[in-house]
Amino acid sequence: MSSPPQIDIPFDRRYQCWFCGEPCRKNLAYYAEGNAPHPSLALPACDECVKLAEKQPLTSIWECRVAVKDALMRIYAKHLAIGINWTEEELAESEFSCKVFAGFKKSAWMMYQIARDRVNYPGWPIHIDGVELDCQHNSTSFEFDGVNYTSVHAAIHYYSQQFTLDSEFFAKLVRLVGRQRFGFALRLARIHIASAKEMKRQVLAEVQADVKD
Ligand SMILES: [Zn+2]
Repeated sequence: MSSPPQIDIPFDRRYQCWFCGEPCRKNLAYYAEGNAPHPSLALPACDECVKLAEKQPLTSIWECRVAVKDALMRIYAKHLAIGINWTEEELAESEFSCKVFAGFKKSAWMMYQIARDRVNYPGWPIHIDGVELDCQHNSTSFEFDGVNYTSVHAAIHYYSQQFTLDSEFFAKLVRLVGRQRFGFALRLARIHIASAKEMKRQVLAEVQADVKD
């Protein structure tokens, strides 16, 4: 597969990860599947975000971003908790004097700020060769069975917990059939709740063939 077209990068964002803003040299190649609302594309991303994004491509780059941010929040939960437990002033004024706490005071706030900024980093609007993607302002919110979820990713997580599904398999199905057919993907995931890996691979191949027809 040849590499998809690179998105435009504003001058002041060069070498920044589109997901989290960290310095980066890599590209994430995002291949649009099924009913994706935009073409395949490549965008700059740091090592960590590339790995996270490849695990959860979901149905669009926006959905993928929600999943990456979610994963960053989970990975850095302890760093983010520093900001919940302390204010900068409190930390500075705390009377910890032993070496361990002095080190904590110096580095803790910085770790919190880095994690916070990565989670909050907004990226930039996606243009390819100067043309803005028209699905840009689509919200990632998702409704299924009368319930509103912040994203397809959140709905997959919810149903995976609820029915103890293989969330990876379920997410792959949703990616193939698109968010419009979430219910169909859910039924398939429930039918194959106890299926072996090989069987699941076969199901995914069949669904993929079906979608292409
Ligand atoms: Zn990143």
